[in-house]
Amino acid sequence: MDATPSLRTECCIAGGGPAGLMLGFLLARAGVDVIVLEKHLDFLRDFRGDTIHPSTLTVLDDLGLLEDFLKLPHDEVTELVGDVYGESVTIADFTHLDAPRPFMVLVPQWDFLDFIADRARALPNFSLRLGAKALGVIERPDDGAVIGVNVQTAEGGFAVHADLVVAADGRHTTLRGSAGLASEDLAAPIDVLWFRVPRDRADPRSQTGGSIRPGALLVTLNRGDYWQCAYVIPKGSLAALQAAGLDAFRDRVGAVAPFLVPGSSTLTDWDQIKLLSVQISRMPRWWRDGLLCIGDAAHAMSPVGGVGINLAIQDAVAASNLLTEPLREKRLTPEHLEAVQRRRDWPARVTQRAQIAIQNEVLAPVLAGTAAPAELPLPVRLLQRFAVLRRLPARLVGIGVRPERVETRAVSRQP
Ligand SMILES: Cc1cc2nc3c(=O)[nH]c(=O)nc-3n(C[C@H](O)[C@H](O)[C@H](O)COP(=O)(O)OP(=O)(O)OC[C@H]3O[C@@H](n4cnc5c(N)ncnc54)[C@H](O)[C@@H]3O)c2cc1C
Repeated sequence: MDATPSLRTECCIAGGGPAGLMLGFLLARAGVDVIVLEKHLDFLRDFRGDTIHPSTLTVLDDLGLLEDFLKLPHDEVTELVGDVYGESVTIADFTHLDAPRPFMVLVPQWDFLDFIADRARALPNFSLRLGAKALGVIERPDDGAVIGVNVQTAEGGFAVHADLVVAADGRHTTLRGSAGLASEDLAAPIDVLWFRVPRDRADPRSQTGGSIRPGALLVTLNRGDYWQCAYVIPKGSLAALQAAGLDAFRDRVGAVAPFLVPGSSTLTDWDQIKLLSVQISRMPRWWRDGLLCIGDAAHAMSPVGGVGINLAIQDAVAASNLLTEPLREKRLTPEHLEAVQRRRDWPARVTQRAQIAIQNEVLAPVLAGTAAPAELPLPVRLLQRFAVLRRLPARLVGIGVRPERVETRAVSRQP
């Protein structure tokens, strides 16, 4: 007889990222029993985006959480401004968006996740298991339907049996492969180097933004006493950079963003500079009987536009809108899971297509360039000249295509 301890729930979600936590919160709030498994012991991981877009602020508003969320230390960005070959260019203007808060919030992702997790923990039918790694799906022997997850913790293993298993375990998902579901990789010609440079809090320069110079592109996020830097490189070119040495790398950083020169002397070891391999992929089919993939597990996003967190949240909202009733009424079928893909596949595809176009048409030529162009590229000149055009990128980045609203209601249910 199998002696593995076993738990039972209505929905088991693997992954406590934006997608998994938000879905867990939404389902539990609407009366579904949920267990969220997160392999780490906390949310304090650095390789995360920091941008919460107007679409997510709208979701928080639907949930009555927006005012509390905005009490967290954060920055509000109404415009995206880039330094393009020395000229300041406003790329997106959020102020005209039809949203309760027409701005982008910059907040460390761990603060956002802690905020959602704290609200979810207050619900009796929500359980968050930290340090619990999903190892693979459990299938029913007779028909192969997914009926649970095997889990590993420092204290030992256990199984969770559930009416629905959700793989929200990110781009390196374990569950997707364990269930035999495929994913297609789409080309991403760039990687990102992720590092911190100290910032003097008295420094009047505080704006999060990006700088473009021939052969280089750097995004700097203001995190108070340090700049979180994302330096874009051609895919696979880290070894050549390392061979040229750290002095040369610091010089390159200083050439793109001279305000980083004093602080960049603290970069003394390549261990301080992490390689984030950019990946764009998507699953032809997001589901199997008893299993649904959402967020980066279903469609890994490029960091271009900083939209991945927000798309993951939109997936969670759509999934909760479509699955709450069937889960509560014990009538979930594969058709319900297919409906989630039908709703969210198109926005993911459109966004990925835009990211690929920007990577290939803008970023790759910038990185290959050795001299500034004689004049700024046409789209940049148009944005400079016609302020009204800045509303379009703001809409695409800030709201996205097919925005979701929370349609479920909070119900009280005894555990
Ligand atoms: C360099 C970089 C910068 C980015 N910047 C931005 C940005 O500024 N704004 C933005 O919106 N997006 C950004 N993104 C994209 C964004 O981070 C992702 O799209 C988003 O985090 C996806 O959310 P998710 O919940 O689907 O997955 P994830 O955030 O990856 O969360 C998955 C969670 O699952 C956990 N997990 C993994 N495997 C298991 C397992 N077997 N068992 C249990 N738990 C598991 C992980 O620990 C993690 O907590 C960036 C991406 C990169 C690579």
